[in-house]
Parts: sequence; structure tokens; C-alpha cells
Amino acid sequence: MNRTTSESLERARASLLTELAHGIVDQRVLDAMGGVPREEFVPAEASSVAYQNRPLPIGHGQTISQPLMVALMTQALMLTGDERVLEVGTGSGYQAALISLLAARVVSVERVPELAASAAERLGRLGYSNVEVHSVTDELGWPEGAPYAGIIVTAASPDVPRPLLDQLAMNGRLVLPVGSREIQELVQIIKTPEGAQRHNLGSCRFVPLLGRGAWTETR
Ligand code: SAH
Repeated sequence: MNRTTSESLERARASLLTELAHGIVDQRVLDAMGGVPREEFVPAEASSVAYQNRPLPIGHGQTISQPLMVALMTQALMLTGDERVLEVGTGSGYQAALISLLAARVVSVERVPELAASAAERLGRLGYSNVEVHSVTDELGWPEGAPYAGIIVTAASPDVPRPLLDQLAMNGRLVLPVGSREIQELVQIIKTPEGAQRHNLGSCRFVPLLGRGAWTETR
């Protein structure tokens, strides 16, 4: 990357952070957003627009989410640094990289094997050593690593999937988009001894969670 390109990316990154600071109050999340090079997680032809506040295609019909949505979901996990976190939907690995700066360990699962492989390679190359990526087929989440203090689902599901609630630790936070295939509500679930507390965080639009407990491949 030449100097002009990296200087203009630097400016774009600073202006995105200013924009995020209007809506995100968790300073650790803002610092982490400034620390992950999003241009490394988008296709090469999109690197010049990596710091625009919008989702971008990453191949296989999938997208890397809009930075504001990534920051909002991460904030809703309420991380302090010593947690184990599960991500469902590795995609590019960007969200996993961000969480890796805010928690002790990230387990991320992905159902498209090519995306899982490229994200694992990218995260390793960039030095995110506390992230493990698993390619999954049928099962939702990664029960072997449970319980998790935080679970984030970066694909939309029709309901809160029971298997994920089961993998959540007591007092843990589950953050996910719930709704129809077209539009969803971003939901934070806190597991308490009295039951699951639900907080709605606003509307959103994600690619569908596919497989058992969610949607089938074809509509
Ligand atoms: N968090 C990603 C964006 C994810 S897009 C990032 O930061 O780039 C949603 C991803 O969820 C897609 O890659 C899709 O293949 C994956 N996905 C869909 N259903 C899934 C399931 N049941 N288990 C694991 N991954 C799934």
C-alpha cells in the first residue's frame, strides 16, 4: 500500500471513530475499534472504502457488518477482559478480532468452510492468537467450549435459539438479531437465575443464520 493510500485510510479511520463515539459509550470498545485494521478483513478491491460506515460483501453471499453495528453488538456483550466469548458467524474474522482485544478467548464458528479457512489464516497472520475458528456443519455454536460469558450471533434467526441459551453461562449475555428474513430486532439476552431478561436494542438487517434451529438454505 502506498503512502497516499495509507494516509487517506488513516483519515477515514479517524473520522469513523469520531462518528462511532456519538453512539458508543464503552471506551474499551471504541479503543478496540481503532485498533483493528478493517482494510485487512475486506476484499482487496474494497480496502479504500474499508472505513466507511457500511457493510461490505466478503464473498459467498455474506457480508462484513457495518462498523456501528459491530460496535453496538460488542458493547452489548459488556466485556471486561477475562471472558470466554462465542461468535456464531466468523465471516471475515473482523468481529472476532475486535472481541479478542476485549476478552480472554474467542471461539468463532462458521458454516462456509472457505470463509472459516480464510478467516483463520488472516487472524493468525495478523497475530490474533486468542481466537480459535471452527468450521461447523449442523450443530449450532460450539458446546465443547461452553459455558461462555458472552455469545454473539452475526446472522439473523427467527427466534432465540435454545442451543445457544444452553451454552451461555449464568449472568452471561447473548446478543443477536431476531426477526424475519427481511428485518430484525437486535436483542440482548441476559441469563439470570430467574430466567432470561430480554432488551431490545433497535432494528437491523443481517444475512440469515442457516441450519438447524434457524432457516433452511433455500427460501
Ligand atoms: N461476523 C462476520 C460477519 C458475518 S456474516 C464478520 O465480522 O465478518 C454471517 C456469517 O454467518 C456468514 O459468514 C455465514 O456463513 C455464517 N453463518 C450462517 N449460519 C451459520 C451457522 N448456523 N453457524 C455458523 N455460521 C453461520
